[in-house]
Amino acid sequence: MDPARSPGGVNSVTGWEVETKPDIKSLGREEIASRFSEWQQPAYRVDQLLAWLHRRRVTSWGAMSNLPKTLREQLCATYSLTNFELVRKTGSSDVTQKFLWRLGDGALIESVLIPANPALYGEASDRHTLCVSTQVGCAYGCKFCASGLDGWKRNLLPHEIVEQVLAVERLVSAARGQLPGEMLEPTAEVPASRRTPHAAQLTEGSPITITPRPPARAVDNLVIMGMGEPLANYDHLLKALRILNATWGYGIGARKITISTSGLAPQIRKLADEPEQFRLAISLHGATDSVRERIMPVNRKYPLAELIPALAAYQSRKQKMLTFEFILIAGVNDAREQIQPLAALARRLHAKVNLIPYNSVAGLPWKRPTEAACEAFAAELMRQKVFVTLRREKGHDINAACGQLRLKTERELASLMPTA
Ligand code: SAH
Ligand code: SF4
Repeated sequence: MDPARSPGGVNSVTGWEVETKPDIKSLGREEIASRFSEWQQPAYRVDQLLAWLHRRRVTSWGAMSNLPKTLREQLCATYSLTNFELVRKTGSSDVTQKFLWRLGDGALIESVLIPANPALYGEASDRHTLCVSTQVGCAYGCKFCASGLDGWKRNLLPHEIVEQVLAVERLVSAARGQLPGEMLEPTAEVPASRRTPHAAQLTEGSPITITPRPPARAVDNLVIMGMGEPLANYDHLLKALRILNATWGYGIGARKITISTSGLAPQIRKLADEPEQFRLAISLHGATDSVRERIMPVNRKYPLAELIPALAAYQSRKQKMLTFEFILIAGVNDAREQIQPLAALARRLHAKVNLIPYNSVAGLPWKRPTEAACEAFAAELMRQKVFVTLRREKGHDINAACGQLRLKTERELASLMPTA
């Protein structure tokens, strides 16, 4: 299927009519440029359109005021311009916010916005990490995770990954009092010489017109760690990340994008060969096959003997520190026997270990260890010369682990439906 094309027709589950035109936000610069050249549009129109989409985040063709009306009509007849419906927004006391979106075919996905500074003096930070989903549901069925509980429904299209970022940016900028469609600060990757000069940078008598510096983006880090297995939706993921990364797109640096995987070894090797310097996180959750297999069925397909060499290839290719995510689950993977093999793997792969106390999921039996047990596990790893962080779950009170809000909402909605 054309990656830009929405799944057309009628959704058999929701009965919703769905869009069949390709979505403009799934298109890269070259695709738009070649279409504009077919339409005999001047080349500068391509950048005007891209700025409206990704830097000004407008939600309608009509808002693109510097494009001729005939071109807007042609665009509207050829492409869709999808916006999500915000179904639910929850924010916890420490300002982690969770957004539940309804897509064009009625499917629900979620994105989580986590503040950069955990509100040091009680105020909210203005820079954030956004956790983005890549699939509706998940096929990998990790035993601790809410995302896979109802199975896999479909892959997200590139624009559905991109739009999560734009939609959150719109809401945050509105809350900050910015005007709809206000231009965002260019990316850090744009050379300083090409940026709009800030008044303070201009020398006296400078011939350049002074324009106020545009506001900075609200989202300055992306983690691909929401619902779904990103590397199982490889092509759409890469296409979306390239749009989000590009200076003509949202403009977020590749080093500020972390992809989290449950360990699809062949796709990790493929990602190592891509030119971008994306960061990689591995949901390890077990330092031996026996423990990992108990909670992650994917380990049977790609056991540690296959996963570790793929990670080593990624690490040596990118020269980047990997991250091991390790959810601490009481009585499953928090035993002292896990520490030594975990430390050995981390040292060998030059990986830091991010310990995450388990977030309980309704209907699943697992529990987090006590705080003291988590601290002791972290301290012992540190003694073994491993770089460790112990996450104090910021979103514990808003179902922040992946898939939890969607699951909760779907179950609540199902309980409201009349039974046949
Ligand atoms: N499929 C990918 C990315 C999404 S899951 C992957 O598995 O890496 C990303 C992470 O969500 C998991 O590794 C885990 O760190 C976290 N997670 C999932 N369920 C959780 C829970 N109940 N408590 C705490 N973290 C959880
Ligand atoms: Fe899927 Fe990741 Fe959840 Fe496993 S942890 S079920 S791979 S989303």
